[in-house]
Amino acid sequence: MNKCQICGAERLKSEVRCAQCGEFYPTLTELLDAEVFYEEQQTLKGLLKRILGAETIKQGLSAEFKKFKAGLSKTALFTLYVIAAFIFALLITVL
Ligand SMILES: [Zn+2]
Repeated sequence: MNKCQICGAERLKSEVRCAQCGEFYPTLTELLDAEVFYEEQQTLKGLLKRILGAETIKQGLSAEFKKFKAGLSKTALFTLYVIAAFIFALLITVL
């Protein structure tokens, strides 16, 4: 992967094009890697992977929970509050 696909010269990670033949390196694989990385940030599979990858499952869980809490903005909290209030009002009306 770290070789020029045209001439086979060694490729440095920082290089965008081959020093030997001047060919631009394909960045598709890098884009795909980034895509996979991004997806794993967003999906349950990635979440589980991170939790199981931590030293202990408890550590992994608490790290993820902290991240989740930090990610909750004031708007999100307000939305949750409104939803809770709505459900509460609905229950009051039905009962
Ligand atoms: Zn080359």
